Amino acid sequence: MLVTLLSIATLILVFLIRFNNRIPILMYHRIATVPGERNSLPPEKFKEQLDYLKKHGYNTITLNDLYNHYSLQAPLPPKPVILTFDDGYEDNFLIALPMLKERNMKATVFLIANWVGKENKWENFNHQLTRTMKWEQLQQWKAAGMEIGSHTLEHPFLTQCDEVRLLEELMESKRVLEEKLAVKIEFLCYPYGFFDDKTISTVKQCDYKGALAIFANAPLWKQDMYALPRIPVPSRQPLWEFVIKVSRWHIIFIMLRKLERGVKYLIRK
Ligand SMILES: [Zn+2]
Repeated sequence: MLVTLLSIATLILVFLIRFNNRIPILMYHRIATVPGERNSLPPEKFKEQLDYLKKHGYNTITLNDLYNHYSLQAPLPPKPVILTFDDGYEDNFLIALPMLKERNMKATVFLIANWVGKENKWENFNHQLTRTMKWEQLQQWKAAGMEIGSHTLEHPFLTQCDEVRLLEELMESKRVLEEKLAVKIEFLCYPYGFFDDKTISTVKQCDYKGALAIFANAPLWKQDMYALPRIPVPSRQPLWEFVIKVSRWHIIFIMLRKLERGVKYLIRK
């Protein structure tokens, strides 16, 4: 009995030590009120979340800060959290940027290089028609101290690309964004969160410092800079769930969510 209890206690301790130092990376898309769209977070909810972070002493950091912390042991501020935006919608500039600036916060946007300043027609399924940020707006995004990363050239499923296309998507998007925005592009975000070993080795070949996935298909047990798990912030999420998602226990919440998904999948089968 005592041995069992001690083993369980040791396991819990190992678990806590292992996951206590992970930094939550949140994934946003649009900041807009669009009924029925899971990836469009109403501005008032976004404001509520930023206010929560501010009030509770969280500090937003960039992916470069994260990289420097893990690779060079650079210190981080207390309660660090990373905010990321996928696809570079114009409402990120019009709505989110003023809110971030007002609170002295940082965020990272991932751009689809061939879709900058255009209508969101790469999303050929039931999405509200909108626009992405223009180059001039991105200059202001950068000037405000925000980070910029690549989300490829055309937003394909990278695991379905042949080697030539894969290399082009990763290398050419980096080149175009660096040239147009005079900024170093050092992080990649996998479209739809999909990647495999071939994708990761090409990302490394293209000199990215890291790449972001979604928690559902990223490893959680080890910290991998080329498969960082992100946590989606859906439109209808209550604040208490957001509170857990940014807490130091967020990884446990993610694991439970993953488990829930796995069970649901098995039941459906
Ligand atoms: Zn995307």
